[in-house]
Amino acid sequence: MRSKFDNDKFLEETFAKWLDDNFYEELAKRELILGWYRVNGEKLQKEGKDTIIITNAGNEVVIDEKATLHYINKDIPTFAFELKNQSSGARGWLINNNLKTEYYLLAWPSGNDKIISSEDFLYSDVMIIGKNDILKLLTDNKIDISNIDAFISENIKRVNERSNKVEIAPGISFNVNYSLAERPINIVIKRDKLVEKAILNATIGMPRCDKCGKPMLLREGKYGQFYGCSNYPDCKNTKPYIEIDNSMLEKTFK
Ligand SMILES: [Zn+2]
Repeated sequence: MRSKFDNDKFLEETFAKWLDDNFYEELAKRELILGWYRVNGEKLQKEGKDTIIITNAGNEVVIDEKATLHYINKDIPTFAFELKNQSSGARGWLINNNLKTEYYLLAWPSGNDKIISSEDFLYSDVMIIGKNDILKLLTDNKIDISNIDAFISENIKRVNERSNKVEIAPGISFNVNYSLAERPINIVIKRDKLVEKAILNATIGMPRCDKCGKPMLLREGKYGQFYGCSNYPDCKNTKPYIEIDNSMLEKTFK
């Protein structure tokens, strides 16, 4: 049995491999980026660098990958941004100014019940979103985290283990995650709010049918593309397909 730490690390590495094969490769193939490389070494990863994207103009963009690997297949409607790690006392990655992160790749992975290799990930919703744009989303919603200690002490009184989340603006909550060892303090933002700021929003990979378990395939319909069950016509289940929005990505990464 792997320790929890080793298991988290294993999941991260396995999912990183899946992203290389299914996401970055796809961006390069569609000529949305010139290329990418994965940053190796724990020191650099601690600086908030997982991947460097090389834009079509030859510029390097630092990407930090954040995936809901504790919630595979849960299809959660939000994403949690860390403000503080309560067990170490360290500043959370969203507000740590020592990090070199320019953009986050947010991912909501789905896959087989047991993840043994990268092939056990089947599909994932992904967004690329600027770190500054998330901070701007907070100020746009009159959430002031400039004095982080005051912000935390004011809100932490309003949560407990039974009710660990309190809404502080429409679609934005303050949260303490008591189920993780670090008991991180987070800002939790609804996906539909994040989409407003995202420069890329897509589903990648091959979803599995939630009715019969067979793979789903991308199909062309009257109203555009969608995922249809490969077991059609026995199974008529469909899922919406989110198109990669090239324009925003191209504008930003020009
Ligand atoms: Zn099906």
